[in-house]
Amino acid sequence: MSLHGRYRLTRVINARGTYTPLGVSRSDDVVASTVADALKDFFVIDELQAVASAAIARSTGAEAAAVTHCVAAAVTLAVAAAMTREVPERIAALPDATGMPYRVVLPAGHAVDYGHPLVTDIRLAGGKPVLAGRDDHCTITDLEQALAQPAVACLLLLSSRLTRGQPIDPTEAVAAAHRRGVPAIIDGAAQDMRIPELLATGADLVLVSAQKYLASPTAGLIIGRRDLVAAARAQERGIGRAMKATKEGIVGVIVAFEARERLDLGAWRARQDAKVETFVARANALPGIDAAAEQDPAGMPFSRAGLWVDPARSGLDATALAQTLRQGDPSVWVMDEAAAEGKLLLELVPLGEDEVDRILVRLAEAVS
Ligand SMILES: *Cc1c(COP(=O)(O)O)cnc(C)c1O
Repeated sequence: MSLHGRYRLTRVINARGTYTPLGVSRSDDVVASTVADALKDFFVIDELQAVASAAIARSTGAEAAAVTHCVAAAVTLAVAAAMTREVPERIAALPDATGMPYRVVLPAGHAVDYGHPLVTDIRLAGGKPVLAGRDDHCTITDLEQALAQPAVACLLLLSSRLTRGQPIDPTEAVAAAHRRGVPAIIDGAAQDMRIPELLATGADLVLVSAQKYLASPTAGLIIGRRDLVAAARAQERGIGRAMKATKEGIVGVIVAFEARERLDLGAWRARQDAKVETFVARANALPGIDAAAEQDPAGMPFSRAGLWVDPARSGLDATALAQTLRQGDPSVWVMDEAAAEGKLLLELVPLGEDEVDRILVRLAEAVS
């Protein structure tokens, strides 16, 4: 019997993207079976971390990398690494930052809530978030002003949907931090398909989730400068104990990166585009629904299906449609952030043809 049957769990079709409350992603068979093997045995964790570092370095061109529990942990550990470097007394003292530099500058519009406030991750290390510019606008000059007083790091966020206001050019922001002698850290949580691009900004550390599009077990990756990666790992003797990577997480990351290297990105992209195009064509045949493919705004290499709901013709508005989809069995979850403006967005990346069919059947039932 399936887990869902045995424990009476809600069956889910997840068209909401890499969403933490729904279990984020689906691992493939190779990752799942390798992780199952890992759970049955012992390892020298430092050796696993070294293999992961080499696999990530090979696949992204980075100097080094380390695996942490998740990206929330990676942000805290990256900030801690900038504060303590490898000084044992400092590592043992955190989160008490007495006598250490602790200001962490970030553009105000990057201080997002991705389930909890990003600034909490800074505070957990003993750092003090300093917001540059305004919520809707942060220029390089604003960033330089905030960096005029001693800072320990500059944190930037790269996200498809969360950052607010005018985008700030990450390469210029990194350069501004470097002019002040401050390391730049990029939280690129879901951007695992663009790691070389994020490294090319000159960032000292790039942080990404391994459980998002890479689809390994939950893990965060700290990628970049060898000395800072080592200082992040050294936190395991301090605040990092509660944020450590598991053996199954590290093994999952290694095999997921090997699979990523073998991936024919062109063919993968074509499959995703075809799935979205078929969905859009069929959704457009439904009363009161206008559908179109939308490219990811942050440059991830796939599109999503946008649905504009006209309540006069469909009989219900976008919010009610999202609710109806969620209440059925299986429970269908869509991106409903723009529902008040009449729009729903569906991400089909992890879904099979049968699931895409199910969504279309449920849409047809809801609007007729
Ligand atoms: C998902 C996400 C995180 C957190 O990642 P976890 O690995 O779940 O801790 C951090 N920042 C952003 C922008 C995210 O989207």
